[in-house]
Amino acid sequence: MDRDLMGAAHEALRRYFGYGSFRPGQDRLVEAVLSGRDALGVMPTGAGKSICYQVPALTLSGITLVVSPLVSLMGDQVRALKAAGARPSYLNSSLTPGQRNTVLKRASEGWYQIMYVAPERLSDPRFIAFAQAAVAPGGVGIPLVAVDEAHCVSQWGQDFRPSYLQISEFIDALPVRPPLAAFTATATERVRADIVAMLGLRDPETVVTGFDRENLYFAAEEMGDKAKAVWIRDYAISHADESGIVYCSTRKAVDELYLQLDRALAPHGIRVGRYHAGMSADERTANQVAFIDDAAPVIVATNAFGMGIDKPNVRYVIHHNVPESIEAYYQEAGRAGRDGDPASCYLLWNGNDFRLRRFLIDREYGEGAADEVPDPEARERARQNRYRLLTAMEGYCETTGCLRAYILRYFGDEGALGVESPAARGAQDGCGNCGNCTGAFETEDVTEVARQAVLFVQATGGRFGRTLVADALHGANTEKIRSLHLDGAAGYGSLAHEPTGRIKDVVSQLIGRGYLVQSQGQFPVVGLGPRAVEVLADSPEHPFELTVKRRAARRRSPERVRRAVDLLREEAAEEGSARSRRPHVGDDAELFERLRELRRSFAAERQWAPYMIASDKALRGMCRLRPTTREELLEVPGIGERKADEFGEAFLSEIASFEELRRS
Ligand code: ADP
Ligand code: ZN
Repeated sequence: MDRDLMGAAHEALRRYFGYGSFRPGQDRLVEAVLSGRDALGVMPTGAGKSICYQVPALTLSGITLVVSPLVSLMGDQVRALKAAGARPSYLNSSLTPGQRNTVLKRASEGWYQIMYVAPERLSDPRFIAFAQAAVAPGGVGIPLVAVDEAHCVSQWGQDFRPSYLQISEFIDALPVRPPLAAFTATATERVRADIVAMLGLRDPETVVTGFDRENLYFAAEEMGDKAKAVWIRDYAISHADESGIVYCSTRKAVDELYLQLDRALAPHGIRVGRYHAGMSADERTANQVAFIDDAAPVIVATNAFGMGIDKPNVRYVIHHNVPESIEAYYQEAGRAGRDGDPASCYLLWNGNDFRLRRFLIDREYGEGAADEVPDPEARERARQNRYRLLTAMEGYCETTGCLRAYILRYFGDEGALGVESPAARGAQDGCGNCGNCTGAFETEDVTEVARQAVLFVQATGGRFGRTLVADALHGANTEKIRSLHLDGAAGYGSLAHEPTGRIKDVVSQLIGRGYLVQSQGQFPVVGLGPRAVEVLADSPEHPFELTVKRRAARRRSPERVRRAVDLLREEAAEEGSARSRRPHVGDDAELFERLRELRRSFAAERQWAPYMIASDKALRGMCRLRPTTREELLEVPGIGERKADEFGEAFLSEIASFEELRRS
């Protein structure tokens, strides 16, 4: 490997992005790409994947192609790179044919260092001709093709995009094969293997950094539909100075919750936005911009929102409903705390969420969907796959173990990341930073109820619904019980001391965990599930025991939930001020507000998002370090040369005048 090239990469990292060093994993990927090897980077959102292809793009000569499915993201990335002083471009359906021609012409003249393209573009003959000429002798050169969101190539995951299958065809059509680097935030073992095979990666340098996001606090709370709205309202009010996303599963739920929150939060001076695919494009854009600019710091949205939202200071993500898979959940929740500071992810759920999800799956893959997927076998496979993803989500809601460990296990990530992340190593025993580890719930032993329920279902041949099973176990003397002769069945009345409601509850949990199953359809009946054997084979050697979360009648107030997380935040802030070099004049918070104001005016002037001028983290760095010269300013993480040139003087003089004012 050429030492000079790696030196140039460090220089680019410093100059364009203002960072002093690569993060673990980034260096290996960058080094591999610079030496012409293929690479595969599997890193969670916020780990810094884009640096891995942007830095090589700004270091190597020629034009790096970045394949990305996120059309909405391209414009932002290009603006941010421009702001950093680079020469980027993009090519997608949002440009007119005339604009696309211009971009291609300039690209072949060597104007650009990096170009984002939508996968559809790869089958466009004009684009193929451009790329073929670029790699041919005398062409501008393509030193790297980077594939973002590479999991979209796999049909096993949830984000499959057929257009991603064109990537390898495109590469094969080039007379000289450029190095290929693939990046994704969500990949199970199986999807990872698919990426290598479907993209045709050749002996890639593979970096799988921990999926763990140490700064995120996770909690799953079961509560009724009405309680959810109240909880979210209280949370937003008690975190009034923070920015958050609230995800709902349907447009209707977004609209309803938005109305409630808007009314409740307005008196507290908190503006709320809303986002879903049913709104006009203009309205969507306006709300997205207001959110990114912190003008409306809270947004209620469907999962249509967030793709490509790079806002670094999102402090909480609350799911008002259950998402379709752990992949989806981790991606959406992962939009919190990109800046590395503590942030919280709450999942509020109840049985209705799962019923709705199942309904949606059946609608999508049932008989009625024959038009879209005509092959009934393929349809059934797809349906089972979606059920499988949802079951894992159910396990997350129900588990009494560490939530972080659950997610990491799901991504097959226990061993791999233990080396790099102390929190993940601890996650096997409990991470200490999730709702379950901080013991914010009570457990109860339901072994006996579970045993009786499973035995009863076995004895009666799985012919009855949940209510009837619970009634019989309780020993109810109803017309229905008598007419079905259940009062004579083995196990009748064996749980006479338990209220029917509680038995029903446990039966639900047994269904959720696979001990029992519930049939689909209008009159679902309960049968034995795959894990029923664990109960039936109960013996001194293999004792069956089951402990579940107690379902609280009343929810804890978010105030208590708040404490653990806020303590962490305060710690992070203290750590920061302990590192400062000279005694501070005046309050950091006050200076931060002034710098934020200055940033806002620059952003408005240029019509950029504020974080493109400087991140919150960079502003906090300024408060901490109180730089007085350009050199000192460059030590602030996130301030590169271009930013120092353009805004440095203004920031420095703001800091100086603040200190002057405080001193006098
Ligand atoms: P991803 O694409 O993996 O979600 P990003 O590329 O958006 O992550 O990076 C997340 C954040 O981390 C960004 O604010 C980015 O500037 C920052 N970052 C990336 N690499 C570094 C680094 N080496 N040092 C400091 N910050 C970094
Ligand atoms: Zn935990």
